[in-house]
Amino acid sequence: MAKVLCVLYPDPVTGYPPRYARDDIPAIAGYPNGQTAPTPKDLGFKPGELVGCVSGELGLRSYLESLGHELVVTSDKDGADSVFDRHLPDAEVVISQPFWPAYLTAERIAKAKKLKLAITAGIGSDHVDLKAAAEHKVTVAEVTFSNSISVAEHVVMMVLSLVRNYLPSHQYAVNGGWNIADCVSRSYDLEGMHFGTIAAGRIGLAVLRRLKPFDVHLHYTDLHRLPADVEKELNVTYHADAESMIKQVDVLNLQMPLYPSTEHYIDEKKLKLMKRGAYLINTARGKLVDRDAIVRALESGQLAGYAGDVWYPQPAPVDHPWRRMPNEGMTPHISGSSLSAQARYAAGTLEILQNFYGKQPIRPEYLIVDGGNLAGAGAHSYKLS
Ligand code: NDP
Repeated sequence: MAKVLCVLYPDPVTGYPPRYARDDIPAIAGYPNGQTAPTPKDLGFKPGELVGCVSGELGLRSYLESLGHELVVTSDKDGADSVFDRHLPDAEVVISQPFWPAYLTAERIAKAKKLKLAITAGIGSDHVDLKAAAEHKVTVAEVTFSNSISVAEHVVMMVLSLVRNYLPSHQYAVNGGWNIADCVSRSYDLEGMHFGTIAAGRIGLAVLRRLKPFDVHLHYTDLHRLPADVEKELNVTYHADAESMIKQVDVLNLQMPLYPSTEHYIDEKKLKLMKRGAYLINTARGKLVDRDAIVRALESGQLAGYAGDVWYPQPAPVDHPWRRMPNEGMTPHISGSSLSAQARYAAGTLEILQNFYGKQPIRPEYLIVDGGNLAGAGAHSYKLS
């Protein structure tokens, strides 16, 4: 019997289960690149249910208990006396979500002597020290593509919200006002603007595809260039270096993974290269940007707006400066955890567990670290330094 330790965000303050707004969700069988959606046996939940919180348990209990394993689910993840730390030394599998990350540091991995598998229920395994995982022969897997389109939709929403000044205008209406001049004095059309994404992977490319019908000029930079037919279809300009793109665009989107050398990728220097009044969107990771440089750029007007859902650390402390900076459109880390996304990443987590306990290979597209090195999708998109 093994211990599976699962860290999930807390239940709704109004209790569990919530009263659902809809009765069903569309069934998504596959993704734009031909990859199929997860295909586990015997889902332990109904798609559309809130399974990403503690009481939802990602729907895993019936499967794991049928094999005689122990499932521990908690949201208590920080501090030496947390439930997470207490159970970690006995855990064979750790499951965590980027929205409420259980930071699997090198110190914690060294204490987790029985740990064989760390699953990210979602995408983005930067909360795991990948180098330490490789050294300790811990396999790291994530549910690639499960919430990429969810995030792409969120990026489009944030671009439009900032450029059109939606959130402050909504607030005037809520407050009983009719302040048209106040609302429109920061409101523009997206049409004709230049939009650039740093990284055009699964999410970045989906964002470009979704913005094309808005008649914007599209730009991207990436470690690998998109196929020529895709560049032609999107009429997108490739930039060999980020700097040349950053100077030209009105809206800049960050969509690359976080690893040691991309930390603080957007710093004071790159912010100064941007056009005055540009907008910055970040649904990738909070640490990709210099936190305080963002605040200064918004206060000076160098940035007209900043929106995203990723912070560092998570949950963000109540006094985090991004909660109070001007012209921001921040939310907690939610873009990849819609009920639709949860159905896919919970199913993917179950599929990975069924492969692991059934001694079957985990899909290469789910692997980040395996056999002591980056592997599968991880070998393509991550670096260990
Ligand atoms: P992909 O792996 O499909 O895409 C990442 C892209 O980044 C790849 O094209 C990769 O290049 C590129 N890249 C890596 N390093 C650099 C660099 N230094 N400069 C430019 N490009 C770089 O991942 P996804 O699109 O699915 O996800 C991207 C990130 O978004 C995740 O790592 C995660 O941090 C975040 N995310 C956030 C979510 C949320 O809820 N807010 C949910 C899901 C993901 P190549 O592969 O060509 O070498």
